[in-house]
Amino acid sequence: MQSEPEGAEVFPAELLATVGHEFRGPLTTIQGYATTLLHHEQRLTLEERQDFLRAISEASAHLGRLIDRFLELALLETSRHTFVEEPVNLQALALESITAVQKSTPRHFLLLPSSAQRVIPEGNLPMRITDDELALSGDRRLLRTMLDILLENAVSYSAPESLVEISIDPTDGASALADAQAPPVPGKHRELIVPARFQKHERLLALNVRDHGIGIEPIHLSMIFQRFYRVDTSLTREANGLGLGLALCKAIVILHGGMLRVESMVGEGSTFSIILPCERTSGSVSNA
Ligand code: ADP
Repeated sequence: MQSEPEGAEVFPAELLATVGHEFRGPLTTIQGYATTLLHHEQRLTLEERQDFLRAISEASAHLGRLIDRFLELALLETSRHTFVEEPVNLQALALESITAVQKSTPRHFLLLPSSAQRVIPEGNLPMRITDDELALSGDRRLLRTMLDILLENAVSYSAPESLVEISIDPTDGASALADAQAPPVPGKHRELIVPARFQKHERLLALNVRDHGIGIEPIHLSMIFQRFYRVDTSLTREANGLGLGLALCKAIVILHGGMLRVESMVGEGSTFSIILPCERTSGSVSNA
């Protein structure tokens, strides 16, 4: 279990070198294809031209995402971000995120009905959960970024045919903490991040993103939320990443007064759990 807070610190030189290297990759692709198109357009077939333009478009989108995440994290860690607080239905937002991730990487997602929706009172039709019960007060854009990161990772680190399950359930502070601290099932390892600011809020939402992918070795579990940390194995090397996603995710959760947990088993998969209060108390990432 990690304890917070963690203050903003200057990026060490080696981390800046990592950033430079990661930005250089897509830029080289863009430059290479654009130069070829400029000088040899007449000699290329229509199909080749379209392939080149597609590669330029994908590399620019990737570069844009890297820059956005890098800037977003820098703003959050230095408390210079804007926070637009509004009621957000987390289940509806998860659906938006699934649709967006599926567009770029077609995968099987299962958005489980909330436990409240699963309760069937005797002799009654399934209970309908109201929108309010899956809503919280937070920044929609940041929460969407958090969901996108978790879903993108779930698909990046699992096989194309495997399933990613997402559930969002109402809970309360005492159950959430008891659940988060209960011993993991044998063979699984866990990392729990409970910011000092986490209070036993009355009403909380528990988001779980479960994949059946490569899993994470216990020695890496406590480090994956640090910025620029990437697990370097033959299985993870193929996935394009800067090691910023989970650091950003953590910053967003802390800003919302929530806590995080990851449980994983190598070869079996990982479950990232985020517990968010429905009513937010103000705070910042650096004084979590
Ligand atoms: P990246 O952009 O490299 O994915 P993240 O900060 O999102 O950066 O993740 C850090 C590292 O944690 C990844 O490089 C990967 O090794 C590991 N990781 C994250 N999510 C998962 C997952 N669902 N399954 C397995 N490994 C994961």
